[in-house]
Amino acid sequence: MCGIFAYTGKKESLPILLDGLTSLEYRGYDSAGIYMAETGSVKSVGAVENLKLKIKGDEKGKSGIAHLRWATHGEPTEINAHPHHDAKEHIWVVHNGIIENFKELKEFLTKRGRVFLSSTDTEVLAHLISYYLDEKKNFEQAVIAALNDVKGTYGIAVSYKNEPEKIIAARQGAPVVVGIGDGENFIASDPSPILRYTKDVIFLQDGEVIVITPSSHLIYKLDSSQIKRDKETIEWEVEQARKSGYEHFMLKEIMEGPEVIENTIRGRLIVEEGLAKLGGLEMVAEKLRSMKRIIIVGCGTAYYAGLVGEYMIEEYAGIPVEVEVGSEFRYRKPLIDEHTILLAVSQSGETADTLEAIREAKRKGVLTLGIVNTVGSTIARETDAGIYNHAGPEMGVASTKAFVSQLAALSLLTLFLGRQRQMSLSTGKRIAEEIKLLPEKIKQITDKKEEIQKVAQKYSEARDFLYIGRKYNFPIAYEGALKLKEVSYIHAEGYGAGEMKHGPLAMIDEHFPTLAIVPSDSVYEKNVSNIQEIKARKGKVVSVVTEGNKELDDLSDDTIKIPKTLEMLSPILTIVPLQLFAYYFATTKGLNVDRPRNLAKSVTVE
Ligand code: GLU
Repeated sequence: MCGIFAYTGKKESLPILLDGLTSLEYRGYDSAGIYMAETGSVKSVGAVENLKLKIKGDEKGKSGIAHLRWATHGEPTEINAHPHHDAKEHIWVVHNGIIENFKELKEFLTKRGRVFLSSTDTEVLAHLISYYLDEKKNFEQAVIAALNDVKGTYGIAVSYKNEPEKIIAARQGAPVVVGIGDGENFIASDPSPILRYTKDVIFLQDGEVIVITPSSHLIYKLDSSQIKRDKETIEWEVEQARKSGYEHFMLKEIMEGPEVIENTIRGRLIVEEGLAKLGGLEMVAEKLRSMKRIIIVGCGTAYYAGLVGEYMIEEYAGIPVEVEVGSEFRYRKPLIDEHTILLAVSQSGETADTLEAIREAKRKGVLTLGIVNTVGSTIARETDAGIYNHAGPEMGVASTKAFVSQLAALSLLTLFLGRQRQMSLSTGKRIAEEIKLLPEKIKQITDKKEEIQKVAQKYSEARDFLYIGRKYNFPIAYEGALKLKEVSYIHAEGYGAGEMKHGPLAMIDEHFPTLAIVPSDSVYEKNVSNIQEIKARKGKVVSVVTEGNKELDDLSDDTIKIPKTLEMLSPILTIVPLQLFAYYFATTKGLNVDRPRNLAKSVTVE
């Protein structure tokens, strides 16, 4: 996820482009760049403020394209910042998304003499369009021909030096909104930077290409046929537009779950062979084969993701796993040797305690891996190899979409390590097939958000909440409780359901409700017994159960149903209603869930 923006009209475009980028800054912020056909490009690392410092003031042009990058391929450097161009510097491209077959395309183009400057996937688009432009001599046809060769996701805007009034945009899996103004038109990743100029917009659909000039807009499909679409008028405020119409980033990010999983697994599963293809681990793949132990380190939500990883990896890859919070690992005497892997999980890639754990492990000669969302972050740079989440920037302080993405990445890692060892082809296939179905299954849960809202409203006066689960969903009890603590400030505790009678059961009465995570899995019966024990003490129970389960409709006070999946993958589904529950619980109390008191998004201090 990142921000693209483009303008063509009668006005000087520089201030419009810079304003557009400022509005989009929440979408990505590791580097920024603009291109205007008359005076060329300006790029910088970091936020839009840094780009502004590099502007001389003589940049001119009545049209231009602009970009805020959230790197996926190649570090956040000036060379890798967009817009990218072809050898003649005629074709300039800004891109949001991932070109999956960029290696093949790069090879094809390199053989034909094209020289690449950056390490991004995006640059192939500029060279490929230019390649077809040489052949077809027509800008529109060149863009369409190039997109027909591309696999992956994109929201793009393309400028051609010889036709500066024209901007071509296209969409496949990444948002593109077109603003229709009076003698001026706009392209953007969401309506927020457009709204101050016009409220008339067209939401481009997947597989569509739009050609805009100051006074026209024509929409094509990838087979070059032209289509018509009426513009629509939106009444959103700018702030609402940034949140895709949702009230909070937290809700927007929970609702993005399906898309986030798509992005995490994209191009990484070979279902027929039951394999996970993880480019970031290629260099250490041989070493990983002989590793005997894994220590997963994380803090907060990332630690709980690690605990789920422990269950996955031990069961399916047969490697002993320990999970530790970064702040403990770094200060004790860890027993590690050359057969141990240290796997760090961190959304920001800057978490101080996790980083220090990595440094400590490296000092002792241990192989370090990362599951990190932010490309080029310190943890990504300092680990030997790793997996990027590709979840896009997370704005809500309480992590939601990064967590589901971390679990998906851990399931890919499990498949990768398992297939290097004893895991059979058929088990590998089964897991890969089920991972592929997750986005659709998450959507079935998020579609029921109003139902979950009602349940949360019903309990929003509670002062305490207990969360219980077993096996794969034991860590989800912790994470569900953490979500509620973070955004609603009430006392919430996660417990292994089997631990109830060893203490927590004493707290239960009619004022102390429990949220039980009870999918139909190998520990289902045991969980049901624990719920019985709570009911016998007059405790209220909300159960998260698998569709088709009737037993718990009778036993619990409320049930929330989720689709069936493999036991190993069930946390990726069970956490979603818990995130929604925490969200609605806190918003019912009128709290600002995006900025919980006392908390910061990225914890870069000890
Ligand atoms: N894949 C592209 C890159 O890494 C675009 C990333 C983005 O969406 O900002 O440059």
